[in-house]
Amino acid sequence: MTKKLKKGTRCTICKAKGENDKAVVYLPHHRLALCKEHFIEWFEKRVEKTIKEFKMFKLDEKILVAVSGGKDSLALWNALTKLGYQADGFYIDLGIGDYSEESKKLSIDFAESIGRKLHIVPMKEEIAPIPEIKQSTKRPACSACGTVKRYYMNKIAKELGYNVVATGHNLDDEVATLFGNTLGWDINYLKRQYPVLQEENGFVRKVKPLCKITEKESALYSFFNNIEYIEYECPFSEGASSIEYKEIWSKIEEKSPGSKLRFYSEFLKKMYPILNTQNKNINVSEIKTCIICGEPSFNEICSVCKLKEKVGIKS
Ligand code: SF4
Ligand code: ZN
Repeated sequence: MTKKLKKGTRCTICKAKGENDKAVVYLPHHRLALCKEHFIEWFEKRVEKTIKEFKMFKLDEKILVAVSGGKDSLALWNALTKLGYQADGFYIDLGIGDYSEESKKLSIDFAESIGRKLHIVPMKEEIAPIPEIKQSTKRPACSACGTVKRYYMNKIAKELGYNVVATGHNLDDEVATLFGNTLGWDINYLKRQYPVLQEENGFVRKVKPLCKITEKESALYSFFNNIEYIEYECPFSEGASSIEYKEIWSKIEEKSPGSKLRFYSEFLKKMYPILNTQNKNINVSEIKTCIICGEPSFNEICSVCKLKEKVGIKS
């Protein structure tokens, strides 16, 4: 994204306005060279445009941002706040050693800096820290982690009266997921790969306002706004196939700028409507209510209550 910028290149927007600021960023797939100020403006406008394009939420709705302490979720929270939305944060303390300690601190500090509420749910009190769950269930850490994140995000948003949950998934994440789902032609996943999942059957609305922003763009936005975020990945992410897919896509993008955006946008425009011409979501009819906690579930007992049973917690 920040491909070589020729020395002395002027910011495209400053130039058009007759001003004379030097560009510090070059976005080849948008053919834009921008100074710091106009990059920040461009980023926020792009987020706003995506929110409107997919009718994600309105100004008077209460938004809960899923915060991990990483660049994407903090950049998203910052941009939403600057755009005038009522966005609070939600952080799950996964109990993954230093990674969780640091990311929690950064999230708390950031919430204070923008003057918004951060709701924290500690896994150690709800079930057990992720490494312990991994051990006692013999399940991969990420699968248990994904389950608890989805569950608590949804439950807490409903309990606290938020209309919508926003996550910091960026274009690189969406392309990697889309690529993986396409490799396996996982139709049910492809059918749900949309930047907005409407509220239904006990699930709150979920949105991804950064779906057209690349990972590098969100890192740069955080940098220019002096946002401190956790710079290393969770130790359990090592070897994840999504990381391999991202590397493959970086090479494709390098050769042909704009490929990621094209792959994703054209899917949304051309494939997504075709996939959804039949049953909107074949799983909807299968959704029940967990007999223990009352949350939506595909089985009589939901995955989190099952996890609790496995780690020896009585509900
Ligand atoms: Fe959870 Fe896996 Fe992500 Fe770590 S890498 S935060 S365990 S989903
Ligand atoms: Zn349950």
